[in-house]
Amino acid sequence: METDKGQKAFFTKRLMQWHDTENNRSLPWKEEKDPYRIWLSEIILQQTRSEQGRPYYLNFTTTYPTIQDLADAPDEAAFRIWQGLGYYNRCKNMLATARYIAHDLGGKFPQSYEGLLALKGIGPYTAAAIGSFAFGLPHAVVDGNVYRVLSRYFGIEVPSDSTEGKKLFFELANELLDKKRSAAYNQAIMDHGATVCTPAAPKCHICPVQEKCVAYHNGLIALLPVRSKKQAVRNRYFNYILFTSGDDVWIMKRDGKDIWQNLYELYLYESDQTITKQQLAKKIKESVDISSELEYEGVLTQRLTHQLIEIKFYSMEISTTLKPPENEGRWVNQSMLKNFAFPKSIVSFLEKKLYF
Ligand code: SF4
Repeated sequence: METDKGQKAFFTKRLMQWHDTENNRSLPWKEEKDPYRIWLSEIILQQTRSEQGRPYYLNFTTTYPTIQDLADAPDEAAFRIWQGLGYYNRCKNMLATARYIAHDLGGKFPQSYEGLLALKGIGPYTAAAIGSFAFGLPHAVVDGNVYRVLSRYFGIEVPSDSTEGKKLFFELANELLDKKRSAAYNQAIMDHGATVCTPAAPKCHICPVQEKCVAYHNGLIALLPVRSKKQAVRNRYFNYILFTSGDDVWIMKRDGKDIWQNLYELYLYESDQTITKQQLAKKIKESVDISSELEYEGVLTQRLTHQLIEIKFYSMEISTTLKPPENEGRWVNQSMLKNFAFPKSIVSFLEKKLYF
């Protein structure tokens, strides 16, 4: 790709001027120099909007002010705070990394890009963010915001998710970086992508680089950035049964390699397609002798990045002498339910049933 040197220099200069004079985006982790807090914010913000991530960041930093505090936290307590953010593997990796740093690295984050990259759950983006913000290392962040701003400004039509595109954007981003002020530059491009060159309806009229923006002058804004892969959405059908016995509720832990890993849930029967109450009752009664009636409680649909899940809820009162099918769960008193982390959909259902 040919881009003239003047166009590159103009981009960096104008972006930095905008950052110094006009960028007033306020975030609780901005200007932060503590690698632990930067790392926390970056882990929380992976696949999460900053407005949604803000209360989680504040809750984690208040409850666990240092990496040692987080390393000492019981899994359940950290998962409870994470509840609602989704992508629970991130929380699991976060705890593993906190314990590794606290126990094996004397509580100190590595101060090199390569050292940061070697940590579990830290990829090039997070390593560049921690490296530049905490230690002033000259590495550019490259994420969806950066792909969007650079592809529009330079008119790049190479798909950002192709091998060629990733290499091209990575090299270009690092070439544009103001190496003496890497923290400010990275903050500037992230904020510009989040507040000016937004995915829909970018604010070109106040954009500091509009004068030389290829997409703006050639009517290409809506076409950029280009993405090649469209991952298919998988449809799933979850049938949850709230088994109760007096004040006790049957819960199970999700420990397979799947969504909501390590969270708790109600008894789940996952079917290949949507099934009726009668079909579900038949399935349950195949594996256990339950004579009481299955009550239908409602249905909702939850969309995750590549999954669309139909979630049906049922309830059934049984005796604790009977174990629900697949004896992997346990009975818990209703009053104890708030000590367990559940996926958001189950929390809403239990709230409706007044268990919280
Ligand atoms: S002029 Fe518009 S499209 Fe171009 S970089 Fe600025 S905000 Fe984005």
